[in-house]
Amino acid sequence: MVTSLSAVLRKSDGPFSIEEVTLEEPRPDEVLVRVVAAGMCHTDMLARLPALEALLPAALGHEGAGVVEAVGSQVEGLAVGDHVVLSFDSCGHCSPCLTGRPAYCATFELRNMSGRRVDGSTGARLVDGSEVSARWFGQSSFGQYALTTARNTVKVPSDVPLELLGPLGCGIQTGAGAVLNEMKPGPGNNLAVFGAGAVGLAAVMAAKLSGVREIVAVDVHTSRLDLALELGATRVVNGRDEDVLAQVVGDTGGLDFTFDTTGVGSVMQVAVQALARPGLCVLVGAGQDEFSIAPTALIGRHVTFVYEGSAVPQLFIPELVEHYRNGRFPLDRLVQSYQLADIDRAEADSVSGAVVKPVILIPSPEQQETR
Ligand SMILES: [Zn+2]
Ligand SMILES: [Zn+2]
Repeated sequence: MVTSLSAVLRKSDGPFSIEEVTLEEPRPDEVLVRVVAAGMCHTDMLARLPALEALLPAALGHEGAGVVEAVGSQVEGLAVGDHVVLSFDSCGHCSPCLTGRPAYCATFELRNMSGRRVDGSTGARLVDGSEVSARWFGQSSFGQYALTTARNTVKVPSDVPLELLGPLGCGIQTGAGAVLNEMKPGPGNNLAVFGAGAVGLAAVMAAKLSGVREIVAVDVHTSRLDLALELGATRVVNGRDEDVLAQVVGDTGGLDFTFDTTGVGSVMQVAVQALARPGLCVLVGAGQDEFSIAPTALIGRHVTFVYEGSAVPQLFIPELVEHYRNGRFPLDRLVQSYQLADIDRAEADSVSGAVVKPVILIPSPEQQETR
């Protein structure tokens, strides 16, 4: 057993509380990771939805980065001391997993959104002995330790700062993967991104990497549009303008690819309407909003909702690390760090749009003992 100081959400509308969580020893297929830092993603806030109330109390966080502390007896390819990024969990033996599409694992929601193992256990308890959800995306990494599986623990080079890498596990992988794994654009293509948060800006960087000719970024925050221009957007549009569709299309005649990260019905509608024929619209915004569209608006056009950039984390995350190391994927431009004790402020800054990607720095267990 190990005791972890973790951020726990007890009530849907309450703040996080930093408290001691006791984690079980890793099972044969599990890994114990000492978390160094964890990104905050909008999906963490889904835990506040009334529909997910059964999850609470819950340790959240699903963009962890850290160091392997212990491995179960059946775990291969990971050793104590390895630097790792934590991503989404998958089973490894269903049809989507076997065909290299683990983001569509038959047990994706169970493994990532229930806060529990597949057998219903959480592997974690609060000080009073009651259970706490601690398997959020197979990790719950807003705390000193996370119990993960070999499937969602990705080894990364040890010469890249762990304080930066956590967001590769979800948000950045989602945006970059939507472009690199689903759209696969080339020079001569054009692409529009709706919502220039961490996911959208990762898509902008990936589009630039791919040599995309015209990259249009749409957002309501001027600061984000400025950042989008620095990261590779060739044109920006303020989403509050009345003629967003006309501005996005410009003189392209329609875009080859559009990407919606907002989950807002009216925006998703524009993202489809802005497409050329043929054209592909990728949606990732996990909101509750719906949109309707005339069937004929889909002539020659495809719309798909993508989880986790359709990535195989073990292949894709090291690829993104390599791009970062070579200066082609300036991940550091998106990140702002917060101490664990300031996690509520990090969430507020993320919701308001003031910060693109908050990363929570986790106090090491040694630091804490000497306090
Ligand atoms: Zn599976
Ligand atoms: Zn996420």
